[in-house]
Amino acid sequence: MLSILMAQPAENRPLIQLTKVDKGGSATTPLVISTEFADGDRGCKIVFRSYDKLGKPATYETGSFKDNGNASGVKDKHDICVSTAAGCTRNCGFCAVPKAELGFERLLTSTEIEAQVTSTISLRNKDNALPNVVGLMGNGEPPDNYKNVIPALQHLFEQHVPIDRVTISTIGESSKGINALADAFAESDIPVKLQFSLHVANNAKRREIIPGKRTIEEIMYDVDRYAEVTGQPVKFNVVLMETDTFTNASVEDAIALASLLQQPSFFSGKPIARRLKMSAYNPIPGLPFRAPNQETRDLFVKTLRDHGVSEIKTFKGSGIDIDSENGTGGFACGQLRATTRRAVDQSEAQK
Ligand code: SF4
Repeated sequence: MLSILMAQPAENRPLIQLTKVDKGGSATTPLVISTEFADGDRGCKIVFRSYDKLGKPATYETGSFKDNGNASGVKDKHDICVSTAAGCTRNCGFCAVPKAELGFERLLTSTEIEAQVTSTISLRNKDNALPNVVGLMGNGEPPDNYKNVIPALQHLFEQHVPIDRVTISTIGESSKGINALADAFAESDIPVKLQFSLHVANNAKRREIIPGKRTIEEIMYDVDRYAEVTGQPVKFNVVLMETDTFTNASVEDAIALASLLQQPSFFSGKPIARRLKMSAYNPIPGLPFRAPNQETRDLFVKTLRDHGVSEIKTFKGSGIDIDSENGTGGFACGQLRATTRRAVDQSEAQK
């Protein structure tokens, strides 16, 4: 029996109890060591700690965002941003996770992944007033940990935990992981979608911001296969960003992106639907990246449209824009881990 314990519950509510033991080991006990709120009740960062069967600790974060009736017209929902690792071994240049003081501890077990969903629903949306939308977009590269991601999601579905859909984010480096996920969720009643963090449709430029060995063309084969096996169109994520020496927001970048998105399937050669999700970079203290100015962003979108891309979903930012400089930051995409050291220190001090 796994129980979810609360050191500092936001409210005195019972949490969902799971009955599950990780394969080959004893049950871990995820402990919520801190909850931080932002933008009223809209955003919440929950920090967990637990131990694997070898006794190795992990501290990891979950984001919860309520999009209920805000001015942007986003449909009412409860976004749960789940981590699949405590930290990350990939070293994307624009991401706060690999640079966070806490560092990489380990991949999370299936129970630890699952507990983030159940306890966040219990804490934040117990009456299911909002549909729960789960994104595996926190710390870690989910296909690197497919052996735990798959049983975690399957068990959530078997237990009828109220989830509307799941989106798994990837930078595309693990072909084995992406293909295993596609095969596992081909027949799923609850949609499990893939989001490919492409960012730029040029191999040399992409290599500057995302380390790895695979070309965009090799990754496209796997993500197109995912779409065809599962019947779920893949979302292509592009965050517009620049430094003094790098940009992914030039007119040439927009033309290359438009061309890539309109190519037939790299897997089957058939026509294929691809969705584009775009946002501007959320600045992270200590990193050189920034959002291109509005004029550059508008020209990028216009160029995409002029070159045949009609379906573009744009976001103001990823996550909630919290002031990272006053110490309450860390809710926006890639930033969940940035301030977790503080939560750990506070938890230790209260023992
Ligand atoms: S963007 Fe994702 S894969 Fe890259 S370092 Fe950050 S958490 Fe890891």
